[in-house]
This record gives sequence, C-alpha cells and structure tokens, in this order.
Amino acid sequence: MSLPQAGKNFYIHTFGCQMNESDSSRMAELLATDGWTGIDDPEDADLILLNTCAIREKAESKVLSALGRYRLVRNRRGTRLGVTGCVAQQEKEKLLERVPYLDFVLGPDQIAQLPAAVSSAAAGERLARTGWMDSEEYVFPRADPEAARGQVSAFVTVMKGCDNVCSFCVVPHTRGREVSRAYADVVQEVASLVAVGVREVTLIGQNVNSYAGGCTFAELIRRVAAVPDLVRIRFTTSHPQDLSPELMEAFRDVPQLMPHFHLPVQSGSNPVLKRMRRNYTWEEYVQKLERTRELCPEIAMTSDIIVAFPGETDEDFERTMTLIERVRYDNLYSFIYSPRPHTSAIRHEQDWGVVPHDIAVARLERLQKRQRELSLEKHQSLVGRELELLVEGPSRTDATRRMGRTVWNQVVNFAGKAPAGALARVRIEGATVVALSGTEVSFVPPKVPVERPAPRLNVLPTVVASDACGG
Ligand code: SAM
Ligand code: SF4
Repeated sequence: MSLPQAGKNFYIHTFGCQMNESDSSRMAELLATDGWTGIDDPEDADLILLNTCAIREKAESKVLSALGRYRLVRNRRGTRLGVTGCVAQQEKEKLLERVPYLDFVLGPDQIAQLPAAVSSAAAGERLARTGWMDSEEYVFPRADPEAARGQVSAFVTVMKGCDNVCSFCVVPHTRGREVSRAYADVVQEVASLVAVGVREVTLIGQNVNSYAGGCTFAELIRRVAAVPDLVRIRFTTSHPQDLSPELMEAFRDVPQLMPHFHLPVQSGSNPVLKRMRRNYTWEEYVQKLERTRELCPEIAMTSDIIVAFPGETDEDFERTMTLIERVRYDNLYSFIYSPRPHTSAIRHEQDWGVVPHDIAVARLERLQKRQRELSLEKHQSLVGRELELLVEGPSRTDATRRMGRTVWNQVVNFAGKAPAGALARVRIEGATVVALSGTEVSFVPPKVPVERPAPRLNVLPTVVASDACGG
C-alpha cells in the first residue's frame, strides 16, 4: 500500500457480504482513476466511505457507531464522510438529517456517481443519491484487471437484486429487482482477471441460480470453466427453490467448480418456512442436498439459519436441530431473527408471536455449540490426508508459515515454500474448529507470478458465525 499523500487519501470501511466487498473494490478502482490513494489507517484519510449492510439491526447500528468514531477524524482534518450500500438505500436523505456531519449518501446502484459525489462534497454540497436502476439502464461495474493483479482470488458479479419475497429480508428493498449480466461480459471479465494472475473466481449475486444473462447459471459456469488457466470456480448465494438438476450436475461434471455448496435453509420446520415465504419444505431441501451429494460425494455443505423467527416454538427449533444432525453441515452462519423495515414479517410479528430474547439467545447458543462440534469432527476427519490447496500467501496467524484453501474452502496453515497462486499438496497434521494445519509435500507454481499482496479493503473480520453474512 502506498504511503499517505496529503489531500487525496481514502479509506473504505466495508460491512456485510461479498456483494459489498465487490462494490468496495469497484469504488476503490474509481477513486484510483481519479488520483486517489487507498490507505490502511482511517486517521490519515481525507475521504472515508462506509459501505454498509442493512441485513440485521446489529449491522446497521455498527455503521452508526463507526460514523461516530470517524466524526473525530473529520473534526481534526476536515475528512469527508460518505455512506454507501444498503443502509444508504434504506435511509436515503433521512441519513443526512440524522447525521449532520455526513457529506453524502449513495445507494448501491449509484457507485458510478462516486467521483462526482466526492467533488460536490469537497465544494461543501451535501447530497443523497439513491434508487434502483432497472435492467435497461443498469451497467454492471467491471473489475479493472490491473487492480486485481496480485490477487489469487476475485469476486465477479453476475447478477444484482432479488425477486424473492422472503418475509424477513430487506434485500429486495435495498438492492432492487434482479438484473443479470450478459454471459459474454462475465466470461470476458474472468479472462481478463486470469490474464493478470487470478486463479480462482467466485461468481456472486443475491440469488445466482436464477441467473438469466442469456443462458442458465449452470451453463454460465461451464462457459467460465472454459477460460484457459482458471483453476477454481465458486459461487454464492443460491436459493433452494431455484436449484436445478443441471446445476447439481455441474458439481460432478465441471472439474473447476469446487465441491462446496452454500445453500441457505433458514429453518428445519415447515410452518416456519411457510411464514418465511421460502417456497420449499425441509424435505424438498434435503432431497436436493442428497441428490447433490450422490453426484458429488465429498461435497462440503454450508448454510444459513435464522433462529427465533416470530412464532418459532420449541418444537420448531428442535426440527432445525434435527435437520442439522441429518445434513451434518461443514459450517453454518446462524443468526437471531432481526426485525427489518419494509418486510412483511415485521408487520405480522405480533400476530405470530415474538420469541423472548433470552430464549432466542439460548437457541442460538445451542445451535452454534452443536455446529462447532460437527465442524471440528469434519476437520479432524481430514487429518492424515494429503490435500490440494490453492495458496493465498503467508499465514495470518504466523508469517513464517503459508496459508491456502482446500477445495472445500477450509483454511490450512502449513510449513512450506509454495508461492501465492501455487497449487500445493499438503499433508494435514492438525485440526481446530476454524482451520487445519500441515506440511507441504510438493507444489506447482502459477504461470503468472502473484507479484504483490491483494489490496486491503478494510473488510471487517466476518468469521464469527453469529455475526457473519452467509449471503
Ligand atoms: N439470498 C440468500 C438466500 O436466499 O438465502 C441470502 C442472502 S442474505 C443477504 C444472508 C443471510 O442473512 C440470509 O440467508 C439469512 O439467514 C440472514 N438474514 C437475512 N435477513 C435476516 C433477518 N431479518 N434477521 C436475521 N437474519 C437475516
Ligand atoms: Fe432474496 Fe435471499 Fe433475501 Fe430471500 S433471503 S429475499 S432470496 S436475498
């Protein structure tokens, strides 16, 4: 990262999901073309952006408390403050009224207007630009391959928005209707990323398997897999109702598609699923998972679960516990239901019955405790095996060791010399709930060396299961 240069240093604080991480990268690229430099310390920033998440109340209050901290930097050095992302879209100009020291508010579809908003802010104008663009006017922000040079892995947006109406979810209100990106554009972007050394892409969208950019999502995966030298493909997030047999078969047929499937279930109880408006029963969900496992036997499965949804009884919750015993997920992202504005659940929660907070916490703790045991068992079952890893660089816990990911997306810290971007064979010798450890056996270096570490976007650590966003 470059040294601070007075006047045009920016810092982006990213909250929430992969869509936001990807949007932050695009914003960083736009600012860089305008002569700005990204820095790691907000204390030296002339511009601070908070790219926000509105999925749960806790995510939203974190944004407000971060704004309070950045206010001190603003008072000291005149730093401009902007809020982008889902809270911006949800609150619109009300946020300017609520936070008098805030300079601008930009919704997720207004990223292209960032340089103009920054100039207006410099001239002392406060503005809010929000609203969704529909398919005719929306242009997907394209990653600048030069900015991705040095990254082993990159996100590629394939669609935006969501046409579902899950009763708990604010996303359709903050991200708008589904718009898919043309497949040729996606493939071209992937090829340009691979040309600068990227080895793995994660295709992202709120509901990728309802992708409609000129082919099905499974077909898009096959087209992306045909990009020479791309070694790994992942995707997130999927809705069980749109999971096609063709997509399940892609796990068997496309070697570059990694055997890891994040398929949010939300609850193991049919009455709860019905009130959530998820359009499937737990039996249909399990049938799809089991079919996918038949096609790809070692596939890792992860999911999202909401506990204490309005009206959830002890019996409903026990059904969720039974589901996790049956599926034996590799990992879970679990949350206490959080009432969100504009959703239908918030309108009905008094009729359905609000679950008392102490019961909600006890359910979450029990679910997470059991999942930690299951995750540890999965990790321990790998000890003694030799696995292929895509190496990302030095270990975050010990810089003398290396870090890579298995095909199932587990982190492995290991003794070895494999450079970033290499495919390494590593013997697994230890396991904890969060990671594996081992020793390198051999490696194949990447064709295009990974020359510098990936740019930091100040993404908050999101590894705590209760606090992360699976989507
Ligand atoms: N599109 C994905 C799907 O269909 O499941 C999910 C995307 S959402 C951004 C990520 C996760 O946040 C959801 O799967 C859900 O578990 C959780 N979530 C969404 N709204 C929530 C709420 N109001 N309270 C608690 N958790 C919520
Ligand atoms: Fe869409 Fe997922 Fe939210 Fe449902 S949970 S409305 S599918 S983003």
